[in-house]
Amino acid sequence: MIIGFDADDTLWHNEDGFQATTRTFEGLLGSWADPDEVGNRLFAIEKRNMNRYGYGVKAFTLSMIEAALDISDGNIDTANLQMIIELGHHLLDRPAELIDDVVTVLEEVGREHTLMIITKGDLYHQLARIDSSGLKDHFWRTEVVAHKDPATYSQLLSLHGVLPREFVMIGNSLPSDVFPVIEIGGRGIHIPYPVTWAMEHVDPDVAHFHSAPTLNSLAELPAFLADWV
Ligand SMILES: [Mg+2]
Repeated sequence: MIIGFDADDTLWHNEDGFQATTRTFEGLLGSWADPDEVGNRLFAIEKRNMNRYGYGVKAFTLSMIEAALDISDGNIDTANLQMIIELGHHLLDRPAELIDDVVTVLEEVGREHTLMIITKGDLYHQLARIDSSGLKDHFWRTEVVAHKDPATYSQLLSLHGVLPREFVMIGNSLPSDVFPVIEIGGRGIHIPYPVTWAMEHVDPDVAHFHSAPTLNSLAELPAFLADWV
């Protein structure tokens, strides 16, 4: 089988950094609005910019700057704008911090199966993180895509000569890692991360249409796959 792994919040920590940065941003804008309002307005701007910028830290940083100007009615000072840019740099420069048991799990699963990374986000940043993770040698292919939709998975699998029925995708996001793969005839395993980005939340009614196994942690994957594929 070909086993695809999502990267952010599946192989390494990611969303915790965005959440911590959002809390700092809320503090910076504290004289103009309360934290909930700052967070909500930032999220609304991120969502509006999604089609322009795509995913990732650079997009998030531009949205923070826009939100700061918006929330402060243009009154935010340059020192605070500089601080926001630095928050973005800090997220970009953060080394890939691996999820528990990643290396042993990849070694074990890689003995039986061929492994790929399929991650979305900013190309340059994701390639840098794949390199800094030290995990690259475990993978046959590493792919950074703009969207994780059924069409993208289909194109990617056919590009690499992989049939959907031979493909299992592992990830923390149901709408990005699991549902689109099930839709094209592959399989998906959901391994939730403790915090989920608001954009990746799923309506439970939708989730109900698809049955995908959920594991509590990556450490459960080798034994589960041994029985399942
Ligand atoms: Mg993810």
